[in-house]
Amino acid sequence: MTIDRNQTLFDRARQVIPGGVNSPVRAFKAVGGTPRFVQRAQGAYFWDANGKQYIDYIGSWGPMILGHGHPAVVEAVQKALLEGFSFGAPTEREVELAEAILARVPSMDMVRLVSSGTEAGMSAIRVARGATGRSKFIKFEGCYHGHADALLVKAGSGLATFGNPTSAGVPPEVVQHTIVLEYNNLQQLEEAFVTHGKELACIIIEPIAGNMNFVRASLPFMKRCRELCTQYGALLVFDEVMTGLRVALGSAQSVYARSIPGFEPDMTVLGKVIGGGMPLAAFGGKRHLMEQLAPLGPVYQAGTLSGNPVATACGLATLHEIGKPGFYEDLGRKTQSLVSGLTAAATKAGIPFCGDSEGGMFGFFLFPELPQNYAKVMTTDNKTFNTLFHGLLDRGVYIAPALYEAGFMSAAHTEADIAETVAAAADIFSAL
Ligand SMILES: *Cc1c(COP(=O)(O)O)cnc(C)c1O
Repeated sequence: MTIDRNQTLFDRARQVIPGGVNSPVRAFKAVGGTPRFVQRAQGAYFWDANGKQYIDYIGSWGPMILGHGHPAVVEAVQKALLEGFSFGAPTEREVELAEAILARVPSMDMVRLVSSGTEAGMSAIRVARGATGRSKFIKFEGCYHGHADALLVKAGSGLATFGNPTSAGVPPEVVQHTIVLEYNNLQQLEEAFVTHGKELACIIIEPIAGNMNFVRASLPFMKRCRELCTQYGALLVFDEVMTGLRVALGSAQSVYARSIPGFEPDMTVLGKVIGGGMPLAAFGGKRHLMEQLAPLGPVYQAGTLSGNPVATACGLATLHEIGKPGFYEDLGRKTQSLVSGLTAAATKAGIPFCGDSEGGMFGFFLFPELPQNYAKVMTTDNKTFNTLFHGLLDRGVYIAPALYEAGFMSAAHTEADIAETVAAAADIFSAL
């Protein structure tokens, strides 16, 4: 009998790490089975502890937009490592990365680098509250903004998977200023502003929500978010940790600006792609807002490893590669080709199916049409999804182990990888 090293490692892990994982969704709890322990990865593939190869559509949940081990990025990181791991003092690369980010996301005048999306989201809210002198803010059901206390209110993703609307350990007093509304619900939005408008520091929103699979904020909804914030003196905070430099070089805000002239958020939260796989995230926005931060202003925020020299080298090299002409056109074409291939295969087998994508991010649903909010996403048939998930896994295709997660294409994926994925899915659909 062959030994399943994934299982052996999982058994060992569970003795010393809660649930055997350092982030809940990795545990395969929603789909059952044994998580794959990754041994190494290259390009569009990774190999698990048994040496089995997979086409990777998670890419570390978004950062690996170039695929794994891109030579230019590896070289930049190796060079940076030799110059030192961390100094706790400013470096030129931080300035370069800040400039590179601002050049790509022009709604931001200034940016501060941190180590995780959680930190960045939490800090953006603090700036919004500090700058407006107001406490309340709006978040939308199904959007995830990291695990800071005030934001763990009916969040999606990992929490949704565990059917846990809010986390234990968060005192009710801490979330009393968090107003949770339904995504894409204009009426609730209007009502919330009528009631609380003058007390609102901000709206925080995932413009294309990737933590309830893939759900876009509709144009009228986004337009109204912007108008109401401006009218009531609240800030519009875009959480683009997932969508930033992933759906387009200019991020999701540039996608909305195509249809809503002059559209801009006041603040933006970034992560994932800007670190290229290293712990790096950022928050930024208008100058007068960012100048509220210490040491200039009264809003405190700090970090020992913020702007880490190895992480910034990785981020800079990644930004350089994704800035090359045609990058997002190629990426977007491949993503569309995957989604349309899967849709055609499902339709042929008579399975209700639809999907959507933007740039290198996609989602699909076992519904005839795209859902608009979290409640609808939650009505998905788990059993069919689990059959699809495990069928793909057996056939060497790794998608998110939960229905509430987006998927990610990288520059390293080939048309052959996509064809193989679609063929595997077609096989599973026809047996359903
Ligand atoms: C991943 C994510 C976060 C949290 O980032 P971490 O680096 O995991 O802390 C926040 N917001 C969104 C939209 C995300 O996708």
